Amino acid sequence: MKDNPWERAINQLNNALGYIEIDDVLYQRLIHPDRTIEVSLPLKLDNGKVKTFRGYRVQHNNLRGPYKGGLRFHEGVDLDEAKALSFWMSMKNAVVNIPFGGGKGGISVDPKKLSEKELENLTRLFVNKLFEVIGPQKDVPAPDVNTNPIIMAWIVDEYSKLIGRKSPAVVTGKPIENGGSEGRVAATGLGGVFSLVQIFKLMGVNYKGMTVAIQGFGNVGMFLAKYLHEDGFKVVALADSQGGIYQKNGFGDIEIIEVCKKEKGKLSECYCVGGVCDITNRDKLEGKDITPEEVLELPVDIVIPAALGNSITQKNASEIKAKYILEMANGPTLIDAEKTLDKKGKVIIPDILANTGGVIVSYFEWYQNVHKEKWEKEVVLKKLKEKINKATKEVFENSKKYDTTFRNAAYITALKRLQKI
Ligand code: NAD
Repeated sequence: MKDNPWERAINQLNNALGYIEIDDVLYQRLIHPDRTIEVSLPLKLDNGKVKTFRGYRVQHNNLRGPYKGGLRFHEGVDLDEAKALSFWMSMKNAVVNIPFGGGKGGISVDPKKLSEKELENLTRLFVNKLFEVIGPQKDVPAPDVNTNPIIMAWIVDEYSKLIGRKSPAVVTGKPIENGGSEGRVAATGLGGVFSLVQIFKLMGVNYKGMTVAIQGFGNVGMFLAKYLHEDGFKVVALADSQGGIYQKNGFGDIEIIEVCKKEKGKLSECYCVGGVCDITNRDKLEGKDITPEEVLELPVDIVIPAALGNSITQKNASEIKAKYILEMANGPTLIDAEKTLDKKGKVIIPDILANTGGVIVSYFEWYQNVHKEKWEKEVVLKKLKEKINKATKEVFENSKKYDTTFRNAAYITALKRLQKI
């Protein structure tokens, strides 16, 4: 079978249906998204020329509440990817029991090639095409790859103008001053750490000092690295799209690496000693430059894909040395790769559980907006921990009950909840 993300999503669903039954109406709703929307976005560039981009929104299902899921600005965005990502959102929201359905979308664009003004205009054009089908009770987008709180604020502004009243709950992941929630930016990374620690506790595994390699140092990878470090894991490798750094003795400080990456625009020279980050520190730290691909193959305990999907392939799966794989990216593992990993006894904590921290706090943000409340950061993070730990425990228990992988168990957890409606 050709491994495109949508086919992979359905394959995962069918695997779980080897363990439980659902009725055919639910099955049909899961394999056929409620609505797929494709729009053209003719953007006037700063040089006066017009370039047309394609935008997508897939509303997978609203069985449990409004469609919910991010917007991605990336050249690789297409309908099959958006369909798969929207399906995974339906599953995630059911796994962690929040009252949302699934949606996802984005624009096929390399935002780095646009000026800020062009990016804002493109975002506003997209809202003009979508505003009738999104809304706080209909479909609530959020940030994903290459989108951020500023872009969310543009969406709120444009949407509010179009409907004639202020409506912050139309998206989540907004800046705090525009109705965003405390804790949202760190939520996905932090949630991944909560879930990982909870799994280890349930498995009776001592995780302190375990070595970790992370692919992707954006919103997710950066907070993940920081909180893993604080929680006693030893983060030894980080990579972004341009390359990465490996220090087998571990990084002393993640935040300084983040500052370095921001300053230099890349991770690859961020060898930091005494507050100074420079390539000349590499030998002193016994550091090693690595490629974005090598980071997955290092001799570590835990490997974390936190960049784009499809990064664990049949080709590199057999090279993965880590016993544990925490899927922070959406859809990082191809079907054949997963078979190889399962055969080798690797433990995969699946995306539809591991990376739910963002959508959980998105739900808290939406709830605060709708009820005109403002929660303190500590309250948000405490509720996040409770929610993700509860879901992780349910997934763990289903994996025992059905004697299956955590991925199948996560699907079983979600499907049982969807079937109850
Ligand atoms: P981001 O745009 O902030 O960061 C992406 C990072 O991946 C960047 O550091 C980029 O350089 C790196 N990258 C891209 N291609 C790479 C490659 N081939 N090798 C190594 N690194 C590469 O995006 P993000 O918000 O951090 O999202 C990362 C992943 O997590 C995505 O798959 C996204 O769907 C998923 N996710 C994000 C959230 C969220 O709240 N942001 C929630 C759930 C899941």
